[in-house]
Amino acid sequence: MIADLYKIKKSAKYGKSLVATQYIPKGTIDAFACKKCGTYSEEELAKLSKKELDFLVDHEIKGEDGLYARVCDKRMMYDNHSCNANCLSSGKGFSIVVRDIKKGEEAKADYRRYGEELHFAGGCKCGEKNCMGNSTFRPPASKKLQKFWDEEIGSALKLIPYVKQPLKRELLKEHPELGYLFNKDKR
Ligand SMILES: [Zn+2]
Ligand SMILES: [Zn+2]
Repeated sequence: MIADLYKIKKSAKYGKSLVATQYIPKGTIDAFACKKCGTYSEEELAKLSKKELDFLVDHEIKGEDGLYARVCDKRMMYDNHSCNANCLSSGKGFSIVVRDIKKGEEAKADYRRYGEELHFAGGCKCGEKNCMGNSTFRPPASKKLQKFWDEEIGSALKLIPYVKQPLKRELLKEHPELGYLFNKDKR
């Protein structure tokens, strides 16, 4: 499930990308793998067209069990990779905005957070200072990269109770144990 804050837009660099339809502040939980999301079974994968399969492979969207994710909202498939992403997988089952996103700006995730080997044919296109370029990422992440993520995610998690959370109700319905994150007092 993804918050209704984005649209899919054509992009010269990536083909298609996920773009904010409004300002999205740091600390916003913008997506999570809900019960309607899931993973493709071997049988379902076998039925996909080559184009669909290539898309899955390109986007490296995998669930915790290593199977390709089948998302309930196709917008969840268009957040491209950046080595300096504005959205990161929090490690708590949801994605969080780690830097304010302006209206019209692309939302990007760091695919290296999914804990798998990652290499972009022709090199990463993100163009960020810390770009992995043509190298192959092999988990675990370096201490430096892990520290960078921990700081980005840690400061965003603290803002959860203070920004509008369009997914709060849906997330807590499935994950009541995350309620503490929304509580200003007991933190
Ligand atoms: Zn879902
Ligand atoms: Zn990069």
